[in-house]
Amino acid sequence: MSTALILVMIAGLIGLAVVLRAFHRHEMDARAIRLRDIDALTRSRALAQSDLALLRTDLTLHSSQLAELSMMDPELAQPMQEYLTELAGSVDELATELAVAEHSGDIQQATQAMSHTRQALATLTSILLAEPSPPVRPPCFFNPNHGPSSTIVVWTGEDDRPVRVPCCAADAERLRSGAAPYSRTVAADGVRVPWWQAGPTVRPWAMGWFHDWLTSSASRTDLGESFPSLFAEELPRAV
Ligand SMILES: [Zn+2]
Repeated sequence: MSTALILVMIAGLIGLAVVLRAFHRHEMDARAIRLRDIDALTRSRALAQSDLALLRTDLTLHSSQLAELSMMDPELAQPMQEYLTELAGSVDELATELAVAEHSGDIQQATQAMSHTRQALATLTSILLAEPSPPVRPPCFFNPNHGPSSTIVVWTGEDDRPVRVPCCAADAERLRSGAAPYSRTVAADGVRVPWWQAGPTVRPWAMGWFHDWLTSSASRTDLGESFPSLFAEELPRAV
C-alpha cells in the first residue's frame, strides 16, 4: 500500500471521527433541550394546577356569599350567580386543558386566562361589597393568587437592584412594615424558594400570569436583569 493511500485513509478516518463527534454532540444538545422543555412543562403545569385549585375554592366561597344574597335580594343575585357559573365553567375547561397540555405555551395560555378570571372575581367581589369596580391591573407580583394588584411598589430583586412591581394591598403593607411579602413559593433542591428564584422551568407559568403586565411594562429591560426566571433565554423548541 502506498504512503499516499495510507495518508488518504487516515484523513478519511479523521474526517469520519469529526462528523460522528459533531452528530453525537448535536444529539446530546437536542436531548438536553427536550428534557428541559419537558421539565418546564411538568413543573409549570403542577404550579398552574395548584393555582387553579385555589381559584376554584375562591369561586365556591363567592357562590356561598351569593346564595346568602339571593335570599335577601334574588333579583340582584341572579345575574351574578349566572356570571359565577360561567366563570366556574371556564375554570373546568382550563383544568381539562392543563391536564392534556403538551407544550409550555399551553401552560402560559392557561395562567393568562386565570389572571383574567381573578380580575373578574375581583369585580364580582366589589359588587358584593357595594364598592366601586376595581380597575384592570396586573396580578400581585409576589403571588398572583392574591388577585389584581392595587399599587406599584419599589422592591429589590434578585440582584439588589430596585424594581417597580405590581403589589396587592396586604403585601404592600407588609413591605412598608419591613416584613417579607407572602410570596408564591416553589420547591427547588429540597427547599422552597420564591417563584422568581426558581429558574426558567417556572417561566411558562409566570409568563402567563404576568403576560399583560410584561407586554405593557416600560421597565421590561430592567425587569429582565432583575428576574432571570421571567426573562430567561427563550426556551428552545424540542427537536
Ligand atoms: Zn400579594
